[in-house]
Amino acid sequence: METMALLTFLGTGGGRFATIYQARATGGIYLEDGKNVHIDPGPGALVRMRSVGIDPLRTDAIVVSHCHPDHYMDAEILIEAMTEGGTRKQGVLLGSLSVIEGNGDFGPSISKYHLSKPKVVKVMEPLSKYSLKPLEFQATPSAHSDTSTVGFRIQTTSGVISYVADTQLTEQVIKAHKHCRLLIASVTRPLGQRIPHHLSTEDAGYLIEKCKPEMAVITHFGMRVIQENPETQAKWIEERSGVKTVAAMDFMTLDLKKDSIAVSNRVKPKPEK
Ligand SMILES: [Zn+2]
Repeated sequence: METMALLTFLGTGGGRFATIYQARATGGIYLEDGKNVHIDPGPGALVRMRSVGIDPLRTDAIVVSHCHPDHYMDAEILIEAMTEGGTRKQGVLLGSLSVIEGNGDFGPSISKYHLSKPKVVKVMEPLSKYSLKPLEFQATPSAHSDTSTVGFRIQTTSGVISYVADTQLTEQVIKAHKHCRLLIASVTRPLGQRIPHHLSTEDAGYLIEKCKPEMAVITHFGMRVIQENPETQAKWIEERSGVKTVAAMDFMTLDLKKDSIAVSNRVKPKPEK
């Protein structure tokens, strides 16, 4: 069977207070496309996986954009899952400098013990590449309070998925995310409430208008975005950019088919009687 990329949102919350109060889940994004990959497994990734029946042991790679807990918190336990409890040297960990080696006040967020377990541990800096067939990862620049933060362009069997992690909007960021099929933007702040180091709705609108992907998804909502309604923010972006824009929901899936991107919901498979 031909493989296609399937994304599941194990969380759509982000920023300190949405995470602390779990106003939305914060388990990051799970990609299945020949390999199973966790992108930014924040607090609760493991719990959210269990609730939709995803097996943690079937993990091939863990990708962490930077050293804030809403992005890295469950990475160590997923390393244990990926390596069958630390008994097999296998799997891949890709992370920012801060996540793996530390960067100023930030990190490292993975212990020496856990760094010794995967087969591959790689620090990703802008333009770093890593190939995990059929996927290829390329790190993109960011301008965030953790200065080593990266985003990721992922070449999948269904085209390029570009993940914009926490960042301020810069020309470099816009350039790095052009020419993708699906753009995922972390929108921490709603209309009229921009703060440094993060994307607001206006920023995401500008970014998406410039990059013109087939479809855009906003996620990683801060408390203010949740209060102001993510759907309202997505609609504003769609009107401004002319690009179909979806506000992610917890457990939403995106199936990147040949001619379309199907939005659905992941449901837990019923146990056989
Ligand atoms: Zn951050």
